Amino acid sequence: MALAGAHNMTEQEKSETGGAPLLAFAELCRDLAATSKKLEKRARMAAYLGSLQVEDAARAALYLAGAPFAETDPRRLQVGGSLLGKALAQLSGASPQAMQAAYRRHGDLGDAAFDLLQERQTAPLALQDLEEAFTALALARGPLAKLQLLLALLERATPLEARYIIKLASGDMRTGVKQSLVEEAAAAAFGAEPAQLRRAVMLNGNLAEVVRMAAAGTLGQATMRLFHPLGFMLASPVDSVEEALARFAEEVALEAAAAGAMTPALRAAQLEDKYDGMRAQLHCGDRTQAGRVGLFSRNREDLSESFPDLIEAFATFGEAVILDGEILAWQPGDERATGRALPFSSLQQRLGRKRVTAEMREATPVIFMAFDLLFESGELLLELPLRERRERLEKLVAAHGALTSDPHAGPDQGMLFASGTGGFARLILAPAVPLTDVEQLEAAYAEARRRGNEGVMLKAAASSYQPGRRGLAWLKLKRELATLDVVITGAEFGNGRRAGVLSDYTFAVRGPGEQLLNVGKAYSGLTDAEIEELSRRLMEQTLEDYGHFRTVIPSIVLEVAFNNLMRSTRHNSGFAMRFPRILRLRDDKPVAQIDSLARVEEIYASQPDKPVES
Ligand code: AMP
Repeated sequence: MALAGAHNMTEQEKSETGGAPLLAFAELCRDLAATSKKLEKRARMAAYLGSLQVEDAARAALYLAGAPFAETDPRRLQVGGSLLGKALAQLSGASPQAMQAAYRRHGDLGDAAFDLLQERQTAPLALQDLEEAFTALALARGPLAKLQLLLALLERATPLEARYIIKLASGDMRTGVKQSLVEEAAAAAFGAEPAQLRRAVMLNGNLAEVVRMAAAGTLGQATMRLFHPLGFMLASPVDSVEEALARFAEEVALEAAAAGAMTPALRAAQLEDKYDGMRAQLHCGDRTQAGRVGLFSRNREDLSESFPDLIEAFATFGEAVILDGEILAWQPGDERATGRALPFSSLQQRLGRKRVTAEMREATPVIFMAFDLLFESGELLLELPLRERRERLEKLVAAHGALTSDPHAGPDQGMLFASGTGGFARLILAPAVPLTDVEQLEAAYAEARRRGNEGVMLKAAASSYQPGRRGLAWLKLKRELATLDVVITGAEFGNGRRAGVLSDYTFAVRGPGEQLLNVGKAYSGLTDAEIEELSRRLMEQTLEDYGHFRTVIPSIVLEVAFNNLMRSTRHNSGFAMRFPRILRLRDDKPVAQIDSLARVEEIYASQPDKPVES
């Protein structure tokens, strides 16, 4: 049956197939990928969404944004690359060689599926069928059950539909469409104000529900719901104390300084330690959902399983709040002193665990170091200047516990939650002091390093909280040594003691067209246990097996330090690292946020000598 032009179906035909055809959605995605023009993408999506019944428009908006489920929905598909690959191999009957070749051509399983599957007689699929299949997949336990469901779904799909089902399931649509563009398109489709729709999504957290509200003209009634993460505000890196200060110098004063009149005055800013833990957003205290606590990573993942002690501690919090801060492994101090942060490697032992044992909780206690307050008692505070948010945060912490008199006194803070056994604070207010001058900043940086923290953060006191933005209102000054956040693209078996494990990693940064470009290869820095765990994960994510070397699905982010960068033809980025060493695994960082080639070029340009590998 030919389904081309299915989006022009009559209402009667639509109801016969159970709603909007999936094929029209897949065709739209194909067309979106084929144009780089943002306006055209938006117009195409708006026309499409506007042509659908509201329920289908709600589904389609979610899928266009690349998500099988809404953000507030705790369900997860949990089908990885290997399962999708298996389903595709079984369905297409392709040999492992043909699978590898198809994958290599595109670097994407969905596109490989399009090449490998044959056009054949299929029953029409609707968006609603996809929603039902996703529901069943999320409910199914174990890879076998999931594989069967996947096969049942893909058997019904045309090659083009399969292409986008697989892309959606693997979380990478490659249509060049971000959720913000879908939001704009939905606003256009339903004649809503884009800013109002965007705000409704931020408050409500469920794009599908907001599309329904837009259609009903009720966007203005959206209220803040807890338990879905707001975007995290990020900081821009600066390389030196001087650069940090220059960024915070008042423009007028700068001119005066240039004329030799005086030292430049500084814009009001606060100075905090940059902690080496895990950034997290904590939601708690909602009276309508008593005892519920949400803890989210920068990756928007739910962290509750890794930190049940924090969840328990905040379950009794009496006020609805969203706190921004850092989870830290903590060395409890005695009686009044709260102790100090332990290195990230300690915290890492708690991450990615299915079950955190009592021993682990005891051995690696954790605290939440709060540095921002985003929501309090029904009021979203993002637009308030940091100065005011900080004041409210200090009051909040003071009202909920015995905070020592001076919040700026240093790491020795009071106690908010005395846990039954440990008797130390679970919520600590991050100390902050007003920025004054170069000497203070230099001393603060040295002090932070001495305390075992990464460096310092400078935050403009007048700045609003900009979710998801890396602007100049927050600056980070960290270790002098340059580091890059990269993703593993290939792995090699080691020698001797490491003969059976993938212990030597090739990694990449983001290139201009989002393609990944290799910049180096490293084997030192991780512990044996970490290497074993990594090796296991990489085996599962193997794309091409060349015996000693494998290419892998780019999903594991590393922070890598090096002595300097050289121009080199060894890797396709045109750069290589001298003496690279892996500092740590960054499971908290999404691949989309690894460093870019532009950052590599910037570091290269800033090096006093610019070596070229001969
Ligand atoms: P990066 O991961 O290098 O992009 O640095 C930004 C990260 O710094 C954030 O995601 C936080 O995890 C971390 N961070 C540590 N201390 C602070 C702080 N005081 N304020 C804001 N972010 C912080």
